[in-house]
Amino acid sequence: MSQPLRIIAEADQSVSTILSERVLIPVSCDHCKQDTDISLETLKTSSAIMCEHCYAVRPFGHTELQVIRSLLNRSGYRVNG
Ligand SMILES: [Zn+2]
Repeated sequence: MSQPLRIIAEADQSVSTILSERVLIPVSCDHCKQDTDISLETLKTSSAIMCEHCYAVRPFGHTELQVIRSLLNRSGYRVNG
C-alpha cells in the first residue's frame, strides 16, 4: 500500500474565512457615539442592544444585521447561519 495521498491545500484558500458567532462587532451608539462590542450571536438573537458607555438602548433590526454581514462579506469573511 504505497499510494500517494494528495492533499489539496489550494481548495481552502479560495474559501472565505468563516467567522465564529463569538466574534465581536463594534456597534456605534446614537447617543454618545461610542462603540460597544457585541457578539454576532447576540446581534442575531436580539432586537435591541444596550450601549455599555451610557446604557442607552436602541433597536437593532434584521436590516442592520444584513448590512454588517455584507460588510463582512466584502472583507472576505463569511457568517454562518
Ligand atoms: Zn452610548
